[in-house]
Amino acid sequence: MAAKEWILNKSQKELEEFCVANGFKKFGAEQVMRWIYSEKISDFSKMSNISKSLREKLDSNFHSELSKIINIHKEWDSGGDSKKYLIKLADEEIIESVLISYKNRKTLCVSSQIGCKMGCVYCETSGLGFIRNLTSGEIISQVLIVENDIKDKITNIVFMGMGEPLDNVLEVEKSLDIISNANFLSVAPRKITVSTCGLLNGLAGIEKYKYKIAISLNAADNVTRSAIMPVNKKFPIEDITAFINKRIPAGHNKITIEYVLIKGLNDSVESAKKLVRMFSPAKVKFNLIPLNKEKNSVYLRNFERPGDNVLDNFKSKLIKAGFIVTVRFSKAQSINGGCGQLRAEKIRSL
Ligand code: SAH
Repeated sequence: MAAKEWILNKSQKELEEFCVANGFKKFGAEQVMRWIYSEKISDFSKMSNISKSLREKLDSNFHSELSKIINIHKEWDSGGDSKKYLIKLADEEIIESVLISYKNRKTLCVSSQIGCKMGCVYCETSGLGFIRNLTSGEIISQVLIVENDIKDKITNIVFMGMGEPLDNVLEVEKSLDIISNANFLSVAPRKITVSTCGLLNGLAGIEKYKYKIAISLNAADNVTRSAIMPVNKKFPIEDITAFINKRIPAGHNKITIEYVLIKGLNDSVESAKKLVRMFSPAKVKFNLIPLNKEKNSVYLRNFERPGDNVLDNFKSKLIKAGFIVTVRFSKAQSINGGCGQLRAEKIRSL
């Protein structure tokens, strides 16, 4: 007999087709998905409003086991607390998700790939190389198992963990359908941000469903950007500005331009002035991220974080020009859960 499929990898439509093909009502799909995602019950035999025959059919075709948390690193500071979850997948690969709690907001930073192909030189995940894409079920189960762990709801999701979400766009979109569905994980699209290094051809589906978009720019000219982000050769800065400028954003739906500040490389006042000329405060806001670096990082050995006064000068140029600017001092830095630092540790090192 063929191995059972993982039910978390199935879209609502696929499960509806399964139900109909086996002589059941299409609605059975929504019922089973409500149990799994909303009630957090994955054992088919406990799904009390579903007929015994459908439960048995599901059980003989699917399994519903969640990925396993193998370790949680915690950190607390006055700005809230963070937890880095190490999660083991069915093939023993390990991924990471970081939960950042601040007051009532619980933001989960999810991974979309194991490793990454994009080769950005300031990002630790790139140092891992690319191992494989995550399936939609593996993305969704990050949310599900963290909600189970904290016995609370995740309020916001950012695709800023390991990987480039738009390099795995089909699985990411499939996961988003379930994560944002009010009957299932119920995180509203405006509370979900997909962050990309700039694979502009993947953004149409993300925009269509009103998820928020963040673009990692990280340089104000093509020479610098190409030197640190190979993707710039395919989608240079003028393509990014053209994409943004033709968009008509609603007031609350500006694109976030993420900008990792690296000492001496992209942190000059001249660079800030270029950004001011390039973008309009009506269309974008900025998120400045002073470089995070693991103490012993070999991959990032040539890069440093700029001093606070450099950051302040850069920021005030943007603010004076009317932009909303936030600075992200990555939480979870001491547990290597800060931006760009997510790289799965191997089990043996736990
Ligand atoms: N691949 C996607 C999402 C993952 S990275 C992207 O590139 O947007 C999430 C954010 O962390 C990006 O804005 C990226 O520029 C930033 N980042 C990567 N490495 C970093 C580092 N070492 N220090 C600070 N931010 C970093």
